[in-house]
Amino acid sequence: MLIEIVILIFIFILIILVKKSNEKCKTFIDENGYYRYESNKKLIHRDVAFKYIYKNNRHEYPLKFRNYQIHHKNRNNLDNRVENLQITIREEHEKIHNINGDANYKEYWKTYWEKIPDK
Ligand SMILES: [Zn+2]
Repeated sequence: MLIEIVILIFIFILIILVKKSNEKCKTFIDENGYYRYESNKKLIHRDVAFKYIYKNNRHEYPLKFRNYQIHHKNRNNLDNRVENLQITIREEHEKIHNINGDANYKEYWKTYWEKIPDK
């Protein structure tokens, strides 16, 4: 009898753990067209850039991470592979987009900047 209870509890804990790890990976596309994690609503491209570029190259980025903007090199804002992301300062980022004549950039940027979470 005791062993059945122990097994049941064990299965119950396993189910909870699997559910939790699934939730961590769940993402959605926000109103600006960026992927976010469902669990904490964080922008995934900023998270990837922080973990895999900023943290590993601290000497190249003297400012706090929140002062940087993340550029999608191939202009696909859903492509969050590390190699597609570039950490830039605002001026640099605006230059990249102006040179390429991206329309509506200023308007797009205004909403983007307001929604960056503190890091
Ligand atoms: Zn950009």
